[in-house]
Amino acid sequence: MGGVRLTFYGGVEEIGGNKILLEDGEHRLFLDFGFPYKRHKQFYEEYLKPRSGAGLLDPLTMCLLPPLEGLYRDDLATPGLWQQFRNAPSYRQLEDVDGVLLTHAHLDHSGHIAFLREDIPVYSTATTAFIAKSIQDSGKADFDQQVCYFDRKQPGCPTGWKQEALLTTDKKQQRQFCLADAELKALSEEAVKFWLKSPGQKPLNSCSLNAHSGCSFNLRCFPVDHSIPGACAWGIETGSGWIIYSGDLRLHGKRAQLTRKFIDDAASLYPRALILEGTNVTRDKNVAESEVYENGFKAIKGAGGLVIADFPPRDVNRLLTFLQIARDTGRKLAILPKDAYLLKTMRLLEPEIPDIAQEKSIVIYQDTIASKSPNQWLQNLCKEHGSKMVLAEDVRSAEDKFILCFSFFDINELPSLRPRSGSLYVFSSSEPHDEEQEIDFRRLHKWLEHFGIKGFGLPVEKNGDWEIPEAERGLHASGHACGPDLLEVALGIKPEVLIPVHSEHPDFYIDHLSNMEVKVVLPIVGGTLEV
Ligand SMILES: [Zn+2]
Repeated sequence: MGGVRLTFYGGVEEIGGNKILLEDGEHRLFLDFGFPYKRHKQFYEEYLKPRSGAGLLDPLTMCLLPPLEGLYRDDLATPGLWQQFRNAPSYRQLEDVDGVLLTHAHLDHSGHIAFLREDIPVYSTATTAFIAKSIQDSGKADFDQQVCYFDRKQPGCPTGWKQEALLTTDKKQQRQFCLADAELKALSEEAVKFWLKSPGQKPLNSCSLNAHSGCSFNLRCFPVDHSIPGACAWGIETGSGWIIYSGDLRLHGKRAQLTRKFIDDAASLYPRALILEGTNVTRDKNVAESEVYENGFKAIKGAGGLVIADFPPRDVNRLLTFLQIARDTGRKLAILPKDAYLLKTMRLLEPEIPDIAQEKSIVIYQDTIASKSPNQWLQNLCKEHGSKMVLAEDVRSAEDKFILCFSFFDINELPSLRPRSGSLYVFSSSEPHDEEQEIDFRRLHKWLEHFGIKGFGLPVEKNGDWEIPEAERGLHASGHACGPDLLEVALGIKPEVLIPVHSEHPDFYIDHLSNMEVKVVLPIVGGTLEV
């Protein structure tokens, strides 16, 4: 009997873009199908994008998608497309895929699902499925956000753009999701309604939500802690034994006990292999979310003017940390409509998420310029929470009563706000990771300088390095475990073979585990391992 084959189409020596094909005899699964940001950025930027009408041609040609004929939506194939790729080194026919095991709704794990044939089911937690839909409903219709539903392009039309413009929202085709925890969470009527309708409240060409029991593999879904709710790891029973795939995880967040339970549960399966992330292997320790609260509270308590809080999108735990700081400093947390929509969505599944209508310390900031022609989801939100909406002038007239949740990309609102000098920009996110982000950080510093806003916790450039001033550290808890914690995960689960992914320093595991009866095998891009 042949072993299980694992082919790594993404997530090797890069952070994100995970696309791992698991094959056991005639059965196949993908472990995540993410957007490869790093490779994408080598060719593209904001004003130089893959042509939206070109479908599969651009990402296949630029090696951003593997040339696997039969795997992708046929309405995205331009005529004669596959003839061009049949001689490519990693080309193969791949028609029978049982599904994608999605670990969480970050686009570097989910973004390329948009290209997949719609009859390939996606397995995820209910929270991940709902967050993915919330991101898509309230997003800018970018292709990589089209994880839950899409407009079918007309066959035989290579450009597609005319048809796209003619398609109405009620033609949207929904993708089949199978919920790992559907039995545990009996979905409310309201939750089902959210799932089955487009953001314009029109019915989707829908597939109802299934439990994951129909899969030809025996699967285990382990909830873990990460910087987005709903994250999980997966266990797959194969002819070679159990294969465990970690997704992204940490041991220092508010839900660390989930990750600890995952370690115990996965260990009890005596797995053949563990595919483990390694984003932060080079870090020795982490800032905890409780420290973010304390440091944030100290910084904001004494502030006289407006406070802007910049934290990663969809990090609901961080939003709740700043909500607590707002309560404790007598301010209101002004969140953006898309964050309000996300909270509302999550509350359909998790009743402990605050109800915006009832929560006195939350208001919704509505930018006056963009709201001239609001989308349907935004109109509905305004209708429902009219009394909660604040405009720039409301904030300007009572600056010291608000914490405004903005990221760098919302900073162009400042001309409407004209905050008084001495306002505070609390930075609670990660440092720049590449040149493009460094340029954005320089721009952010210029904006703050222009309006006389003081940055706090903001990395400053010094001799080519970016560093947060000593006294302002501890405002960001990473979504990823540090090196010692990752070793704890590896040794706690104790697989026979460990395969590092989602890391720029996979050697770390070889250096630290060689004497520990765990064999470390490094995958190569596009290469196949047999376990
Ligand atoms: Zn992630």
